Amino acid sequence: MRKHKDLGQVNIAKERIKLLFSEAKKNAAKHPARANRYIFLARKLAMRYNLRMSSEQRREYCHKCYHYLLPGKNCTVRTNSKTKCVEYLCADCKHINRYGYGNKN
Ligand SMILES: [Zn+2]
Repeated sequence: MRKHKDLGQVNIAKERIKLLFSEAKKNAAKHPARANRYIFLARKLAMRYNLRMSSEQRREYCHKCYHYLLPGKNCTVRTNSKTKCVEYLCADCKHINRYGYGNKN
């Protein structure tokens, strides 16, 4: 019988996710398709090991089409003082990704 959660494996997965995000960042400007692929792989790993992405990681991609978001390229960042949100408008699918600020717990 396999153990439910192998901590060694989980740590390796976490490291790989970190790596995939940094690779995505490096490639986003010149090879957006590659960056999107890295995000796809990172999400798959996170799902398989039931890992939560860090808040920074979650802000780096669109939650609808899962494309890597590069401000000034395929994404517009603006703040909405009314809703106290930072809005990331994805240029690929027009989805607005909102992340609250000011209500940190
Ligand atoms: Zn999108």
